[in-house]
Amino acid sequence: MKTKVLVTGGSGFVGKRLQKFKPDWIYLSSSDVDLLSYDDCLSTFKKYKPDAVIHLAARVGGIKDNSEKPAEFFHQNITMNTNVVHACYEAGVKRLLASLSTCAFPNTVEKYPFTEENIFDGPPAETNGAYGFSKRALYVHTLAYRKQYGLDYSCFCPSNLYGPEDHFDPQKSHFIPATIKKLHEAEEGSTVEIWGTGKPLRQALFIDDLCNALPHLLERHHDELPIIVAPGSQQCIHDIVTLCKDIMGKNVSLEFNGNLDGQYRKDGSNARFKELCPGFEFTPLAEGLRKTYEWYCESSK
Ligand code: NAP
Repeated sequence: MKTKVLVTGGSGFVGKRLQKFKPDWIYLSSSDVDLLSYDDCLSTFKKYKPDAVIHLAARVGGIKDNSEKPAEFFHQNITMNTNVVHACYEAGVKRLLASLSTCAFPNTVEKYPFTEENIFDGPPAETNGAYGFSKRALYVHTLAYRKQYGLDYSCFCPSNLYGPEDHFDPQKSHFIPATIKKLHEAEEGSTVEIWGTGKPLRQALFIDDLCNALPHLLERHHDELPIIVAPGSQQCIHDIVTLCKDIMGKNVSLEFNGNLDGQYRKDGSNARFKELCPGFEFTPLAEGLRKTYEWYCESSK
């Protein structure tokens, strides 16, 4: 029998792209259901009666947004997540796959890359502490329902995502789309200011890799540990920005302003993911950036 899968956050970056890979799943936005309202959440799940829920909806933002509005990040994420997990339970949903983030992991650990077991080994980075703790609470919530009710509720943790359908507006954008937009709009020969020192390291995950991985995770990831979804390599922001510039063929100078660097590194191991999905190939960064820029040019015509 076909599994009926319902996806929250269906109008977001991940949700929109996922629709191209799994068009037969049901995608909900905030205009279909307000996940901040428990009653709305429960009646929606009861209406659709899904076999499985993929919970993507969240208050998400870049480093500036996270550091300026921690109250909103904490309140909205903790409320939505709490409502989703409990409403799944009350509506009789047997399977939940919920999105955490590598931002939920400690600011520093003794040994890198960190593994899933390290999730509680220290507080998340201060710049995204409210978001990180709300994601940890979501993880704890699924653990509790597994233990007490025997439910197949589990979590996955993507690293920094980028790709087609991403947010390029400065209010919502993360550093890769923000950089692409800035470079695209810069005049040839000009100097482009980039936030931070360029030194922090990031594992940039191409969106299509996550979209390809999700059906496998739904089928195979039934473990109580969350699973990290991240490419095997990382680059410093300076190198990622320079690669963007080269791919875009822009003749501009880059100036790193040294402000608000964020976490220095947060590279997670994909060893468990690779065990679960043998042969899975991550998109090389240059190829992912090229596809992202092509999509940006096409969609801004
Ligand atoms: P996004 O583009 O900001 O989308 C957020 C989604 O949540 C939208 O569909 C939005 O609906 C929905 N939403 C927000 N408030 C809601 C509410 N009150 N009721 C119902 N729906 C609500 O986020 P994303 O980048 O796709 O992220 C998806 C998941 O991946 C999140 O859990 C995030 O934490 C995780 N993640 C993202 C990244 C990344 O780099 N983007 C990295 C790691 C993990 P509307 O469009 O209707 O507002």
